[in-house]
Amino acid sequence: MTPVLEFRSVTAAYGPFRALFGVSYTLAPGEALALVGSNGVGKTTVARVASGLVVPTEGSVLVAGRDMTGSKPYRFARAGVAHATEGRSVFATLTVEENLSLSFRRVRGRRGVRSGLELAYEMFPVLGRRRGQLAGSMSGGEQRMLSMARVMVEIPKVLVADELSLGLAPIIVAELYDTLRRLRGEGTSLLIVEQQVGHALDLCDRVIVLDHGSVSWTGSSAEATGVVTQAFDPVH
Ligand code: ATP
Repeated sequence: MTPVLEFRSVTAAYGPFRALFGVSYTLAPGEALALVGSNGVGKTTVARVASGLVVPTEGSVLVAGRDMTGSKPYRFARAGVAHATEGRSVFATLTVEENLSLSFRRVRGRRGVRSGLELAYEMFPVLGRRRGQLAGSMSGGEQRMLSMARVMVEIPKVLVADELSLGLAPIIVAELYDTLRRLRGEGTSLLIVEQQVGHALDLCDRVIVLDHGSVSWTGSSAEATGVVTQAFDPVH
């Protein structure tokens, strides 16, 4: 089966600083892959390359078998790659429903807004309860859910989730992972970048460990438990 996402010997740099050295991996349709490693090893850079935000200096990136190396991020988005980060991207002075409607209109057209809202409220019940609230007045965790809902309702082919649990209360992290699980059930493949690996190992089939810009280990989640526990002391 053609992978939905593939890196072939990807090298990436910020100016003279090389952050990735020949990283290769594939993400199969419907698969969930965890990318783990300690601070500064290049995980975010892999996520950025996967969504076109960083262009490799060598190697190539394929989406559903198509070489996308050097394409603009919007082309990656059109090819079905969605990128969610720990950053919050909501309009503080609009309500929850207005925030959602704006992005749904872009991806689903005017008529799709209603069904998009229904899906978002089903995935994130807390947003349904807060639909009339100004986004800027919600907690950090709720704002992150709102920005996640905007991405997820597109049911992307691939979701690149970069450190989504960062700074969130454990109960919110658990909800977030439930949502990721459901999204996977809808057929989305997941590339989960995490430093706290507990939830990621539960959700994912396979694990890649990154070290100083290179893949140092890859294997199944079951095999990874020992390896990764030693390396990062995960919070579970
Ligand atoms: P963390 O878990 O701390 O976010 P990471 O594994 O995601 O780390 P990256 O953010 O990919 O790592 O960074 C890899 C290396 O590239 C780091 O040494 C970092 O300092 C460097 N780097 C990242 N972004 C830039 C940038 N915009 N300009 C210069 N160097 C950068």
